[in-house]
Amino acid sequence: MHLYVHVPFCQRRCSYCDFSIAVRKRIPVQEYVDVLLREAASLPEGDLQTVYFGGGTPSLLPPEAIAALLHELTLLRRTSHAAREVTLEANPEDVTPDAARAWASAGINRVSLGAQSFDDNVLKWMHRSHDAARIGAAVHALRGAGIENISLDLIFALPDDLRRDWERDLDLALALRPNHLSLYGLTVEPRTPLDRWISRGATHAPDDERYAEEYLFAHSRLMADGFFFYEVSNAARDGFRSQHNSAYWSGKPYLGLGPAAHSFDGTTRRWNLRAWEAYRRAVAEGRSAIESEERLTEEQRELERVYLALRTNEGLPITARYRPLPPLTAQGWVVVRDGRLKCTPEGWLRLDSLVSELTMQPETHP
Ligand code: SF4
Repeated sequence: MHLYVHVPFCQRRCSYCDFSIAVRKRIPVQEYVDVLLREAASLPEGDLQTVYFGGGTPSLLPPEAIAALLHELTLLRRTSHAAREVTLEANPEDVTPDAARAWASAGINRVSLGAQSFDDNVLKWMHRSHDAARIGAAVHALRGAGIENISLDLIFALPDDLRRDWERDLDLALALRPNHLSLYGLTVEPRTPLDRWISRGATHAPDDERYAEEYLFAHSRLMADGFFFYEVSNAARDGFRSQHNSAYWSGKPYLGLGPAAHSFDGTTRRWNLRAWEAYRRAVAEGRSAIESEERLTEEQRELERVYLALRTNEGLPITARYRPLPPLTAQGWVVVRDGRLKCTPEGWLRLDSLVSELTMQPETHP
């Protein structure tokens, strides 16, 4: 089983973010740990393969709270062995040598750092609370504590007026020798500060050309450095792909705890109440934290299977139903390898339309 734990707290909202977060100066640590464990008590028992603390900003929780959560979750689920991958999402400013050592002894063996950029002006524009120097210091502290499995998140396709140097950011990220990188194109979500800035003309929405250019550049730059893209937005060195996220992409069941967390049992997807207060009240009063659920039809499951297969480098097995369409191979958007259809980086840029073309083609029999 793969377990996701959502920690909803942040100290401020980043300019592009529309996640389910609760902005708090003081984190209600004990209250959070209590309700989370209360929710966890209702889940089925079973071994945990991976645990992922995501957010929000999980690194705002004191290390003792993370250690207590991991310990109690293991007891509650009566697991026979420790999870093999335990990830903590962290903001660079929270990573001190002491915190890193405490995380490592609590069982955290992978850290995903929200670096985003190495340009202080860009970080300010994003409302991030760290500067570029903190990213290197954080990586250093993690290594000093024995945590080698380090991933950096970077955002690309920023508005032109920021004059962000993407090549420089990639070089600085690679100079820190991470084993994993996640690259996300900036999207403008409704009701975010970024959305408001664009509406009043203070900046411009990122353009598609820049998105494609920077995405393809990152591919060649990272491949030249020994990384391989095992998913549309994720690149790793050998042996360092995220096992937790790979479970999502291969359609495996997972459990989610905390506000807005999703769970999937193979046929039904459930999600918890989004807002921290609503979630906290429901669990504290002994009610279910589930806001809603969706049972996937055969057709939805098939569509999802195709989409997930194509977003990874595993690709989609070629069958009578899914064949390499000449226009797609001729454009260089898909290739055939080991009896599977795999997206090229150019194909990943148009993943949605590729999936609809493939799923709409009539079935033929050889
Ligand atoms: S730290 Fe992450 S979750 Fe929190 S506001 Fe920023 S982007 Fe959103």
